[in-house]
Parts: sequence; C-alpha cells; structure tokens
Amino acid sequence: MPAEQFRHIRTWVFDLDNTLYPPHMRLFDQIEVRMTNWVMQALGVDRAHADHLRASYWQRYGTTLAGLMAEHRIDPEAYLADVHDIDFSVLSPDPVLARHIAALPGRRIVYTNADTPYAHRVLAARGLTGLFDAVYGVEHAKYRPKPERQAFETVFALDRLDPATAAMFEDDARNLAAPHAMGMRTVHIAPEPEPADHIHHHSPDLSDFLGQLIRR
Ligand SMILES: [Mg+2]
Repeated sequence: MPAEQFRHIRTWVFDLDNTLYPPHMRLFDQIEVRMTNWVMQALGVDRAHADHLRASYWQRYGTTLAGLMAEHRIDPEAYLADVHDIDFSVLSPDPVLARHIAALPGRRIVYTNADTPYAHRVLAARGLTGLFDAVYGVEHAKYRPKPERQAFETVFALDRLDPATAAMFEDDARNLAAPHAMGMRTVHIAPEPEPADHIHHHSPDLSDFLGQLIRR
C-alpha cells in the first residue's frame, strides 16, 4: 500500500492539464491546435513546419512557449491568453476527486506550465475551486517551464515548500525528475506507466490513487 510512503507528506503539489482532469476529456488537444496555429501565424510557416518546430522546442526547451521566447522573443502573455481561449464545456465536475483532495492533510497547491487565469477556469469546470491553498503558473517561474529545476525552485521558494515533506502529481514523466532530485515523492498520473528511477508511483487515475492514501 502506498499510504505508508505518504505519511510524512505535508504539501501536495498537483500539475493541472491531464492531471486534474483525464486526457480523454481532450481539453489539452484544443490548446495544442491553437499553439500550432499561433506558431504558423507568428512565424509565417506552414502546419508541418510549425509541428516540427513545436516538437523540437518541447524537446529542447520544455514547452512551445519556452522555445518561442528563447528563439523569437515573443510576448508570453499574449501567447498564453490566445492558446488558452478554448471551450471548457468538455470538462465536467468530479465530486469524488474534490472530496479526496479536500481530505488530504496539509497544504495543497497547483503548479502548471500554463498561466493562473486559465488554471482557475479549469479548476472551476472540474468543481475544484477553493480546494487549493495556492495556484502557481509559468508566470510565477519568470516564464521558465517545468521540467527545468530552476522553475521548480522558484515556485517552491515562493510557496516556502519543503521538498522533503512534499509530493508531486504529474502526467508528464519528465516533470518528475527535478522534484525527485529535490527529495519529493513522485506520482506519475497517466494511462500507461513509464518506469524510471525518478518515478515512485504510477496510477492511471488520480482520484483512485488519492482514495487509497486517505483511507488510512
Ligand atoms: Mg500536465
């Protein structure tokens, strides 16, 4: 049972996209389409080239935004507002997940590579408003993205978080490497496991996993 391995946890850190809602709701797919369109328009390239650039930015810089900022000095606020202008009706409230999060002992925070106005809209659509002590976005990390360790350090310093008593829940396995190195307990939330030394636990269902932790 994993519960024993979470007894020391005082701060619970959640990624947002594809973590606090499941990927089958396909919200992030809408953002991906808008990111590609934005790259096509801003750089004057066709769709295939835009997709290629986004893949290489993701590999090299962590996110499309970080690549655009590093190589084209784009304005992050305009980009973030545009790519997150999507249809939230694909999300539905999850009262069971809300109950499980509310039952976690200690501080609960969200840390996303998106911006916080968008994060609050996602939380509202999932019925999770008011359950978190803080919501951090890429703007809090000076627009440096996860998986960069510096981004985690900036946000965790703001929160006065002690990694030794914190756990991180994430769908992107890369974004658990720095938390693991900092001493956090790491949980990969994704349909398929990607076993790695920096991943302590995997679950396809965040709500189920948290349910096991609070029944102790
Ligand atoms: Mg995510």
